[in-house]
Amino acid sequence: RFEYEREMTNGDVRWVENEVKFLANVESGHLCIMLKAKDIHEEKKEEQHIITAAKFDGMTMLLNRDTTMNSIRDVLIRERNGEHALFMIDIDNFKVLNDTLGHQAGDEFLSAVAGILHEGFRDTDVVGRIGGDEFFALMRNIGDVRKLAVKATGLLEGISKIDVGPVDLQVSGSIGISMYPEDGRTLEELYTKADNALYEAKRHGKNRFVFSK
Ligand code: GH3
Ligand code: MG
Repeated sequence: RFEYEREMTNGDVRWVENEVKFLANVESGHLCIMLKAKDIHEEKKEEQHIITAAKFDGMTMLLNRDTTMNSIRDVLIRERNGEHALFMIDIDNFKVLNDTLGHQAGDEFLSAVAGILHEGFRDTDVVGRIGGDEFFALMRNIGDVRKLAVKATGLLEGISKIDVGPVDLQVSGSIGISMYPEDGRTLEELYTKADNALYEAKRHGKNRFVFSK
C-alpha cells in the first residue's frame, strides 16, 4: 500500500492511495496482481492540516513553543560537536504598541517580526515563537563568531523599520545570546543564559543585543 500525489488528466494534482496485492495459485502456478487505486485527497489534506496546526504557531507560522524546544534539543544531540548560538528575542514596550494601536495591529507587528526572523536565518536553523512577544532562533554551526553581532544588528534594524503607520511610536527589540557549548550543553542552560543576557539588554536601555557572560 502506498500513497503519492498524482497529476490528473485535467491538470489537478491529487493524493492517491494504491494498493497492490499478489495472489499466487500454487496448484495452477498462476500469479495474479491486483491493483486498487483510491482518491484520498480530502483526508490527506485534513491530515496535513492537523500536523501543521500541531507544529506551528497559527499567527506567525513560525514553529510553536513545543516544536521549537524539541527541534533545538534534537540539534544539540545530533550536532554535539558543532558550535551553535541561541538568540532570544523580545519586543521592547510591546504593551505600549498594543495599547496605542490595538491588539490587531499588535498581532500584525508580531507577524512582521516573524517574517524578519524567517528571512534572517537559514532554513536549517530553528526559528520559533515561544510565547507572547518572545522568539527563539538557534543558529547552527555558526563558524565565525563575528557573524553573530552582524546578525543581531541586522535583526534589530529590521524590527525598528517595521511600519506601524502614522503614529509617533519607535519600535525596537532586545536580544540575549548564549553559545553552545561554552554557555551550556543543554537547552535549559542555554535558555537561562540567553534569558539573563536578554534581561541585561533590557536593563541597559533596550534596542540592543547582549552576549551571555
Ligand atoms: P518589555 O519592553 O520589558 O519587553 O515590555 P513589554 O511591554 O514588551 O512587555 P512584555 O514583553 O513583558 O509582555 C509582552 C506583552 O505582549 C504582554 C501582552 O499584552 C502582549 N501579548 C502577548 N501575546 C500577544 C499576542 O498574541 N498578540 C498581541 N497583540 N499581544 C500579545
Ligand atoms: Mg516585550
